[in-house]
Amino acid sequence: MVKFLDLQNINAKYGAALKEAASRVIDSGWFLQGEENRNFEAKLSKFTGSKSVISVANGLDALRLILRAYKELGVMSDGDEIIVPANTYIATILAITDNNLKPILVEPDINTYNIDINKIVSAITPRTKAIMIVHLYGQVVWSDELESIAKRYSLKLIEDNAQAIGAEWCGTKTGNLGDAAGFSFYPGKNLGALGDSGAVTTKDEELAGVIRSLANYGSSEKYVFDYCGYNSRMDEMQAAFLSVKIDFLEAETEHRRNIAQYYIDNINNPIITLPTAPSKGHVYHLFVVRCSRRDELQGYLTANGVQTLIHYPIAPHKQRCYRDSELSKLELPITEQIHNEVITLPISPILTLEEVGKVVELINNFK
Ligand SMILES: *Cc1c(COP(=O)(O)O)cnc(C)c1O
Repeated sequence: MVKFLDLQNINAKYGAALKEAASRVIDSGWFLQGEENRNFEAKLSKFTGSKSVISVANGLDALRLILRAYKELGVMSDGDEIIVPANTYIATILAITDNNLKPILVEPDINTYNIDINKIVSAITPRTKAIMIVHLYGQVVWSDELESIAKRYSLKLIEDNAQAIGAEWCGTKTGNLGDAAGFSFYPGKNLGALGDSGAVTTKDEELAGVIRSLANYGSSEKYVFDYCGYNSRMDEMQAAFLSVKIDFLEAETEHRRNIAQYYIDNINNPIITLPTAPSKGHVYHLFVVRCSRRDELQGYLTANGVQTLIHYPIAPHKQRCYRDSELSKLELPITEQIHNEVITLPISPILTLEEVGKVVELINNFK
């Protein structure tokens, strides 16, 4: 059986160090907002090159907090518009609607699955305040044109970096390209905690201060509350685990890239569309291919012992949670085609080339 994601064995590799980290936290008697958080924030700051890092409870909160902080700073207000790719994971859009902001869905590029930068300008209105880009599946989306659009229309560029930690654009890491970025350390992400956690990175120290306060009930001084905030903190246990695992992230990413290259070099079935990607610009959180007979292909692979997943089966604008909103009336043919045709092949830091070889052989024999 080729598993899609074997979290037990992925973490077993670091078992001794993780157990030592857990013991350290238990023995310290300090479980929130302590040394482990500061240490992990410093490590993530060094890794991404971002000046400020705020560890939070999860990736959705990271994105919610960025938008909420911009509202507190007067940059955005209720009903303002945020441009976002239509084929993202639902959390990106939930962060926008949860803040009473309006998501403006823009179609992706069919080759990269990332927002089509050429379609952004026509989506801008006087109420547009930000572009929330998503480095989907682990592939960076950035260009000089994107930056100049943001500058020309005075828009914030916010990165949903939940899937792309470690990816680069011209030597700059994702999370340090835009004005602010949200990270997720959900267990299945490239840097996965043993539970939920997330982070915000930004160069903007004022924004960072507001986010740190908002994540702590709106307080930066004990029992003094400047905002009606949230409780969204990373616990010390997760920070300690992440500090162990972040040191191995580059090596794990290298392994992901080798697997992806093997798939790209060896899958030669003409009904499969492979991803196209710049070398350092993709960390292959997911290895997504397209096939017009996707469901049949998935059934065949399952029957032959290969687990696959669909990222994602239903587009956000087609979800029940938005059935009463304007989103449900949109027609987005490229997004819908992607949701109908994509299938994600196994990729992970512990998948072996023998296993990948088996998947390739099966796919090449699929008629
Ligand atoms: C995982 C993910 C999130 C949400 O992160 P959580 O930690 O699960 O809340 C947001 N956006 C994208 C693109 C994701 O993949």
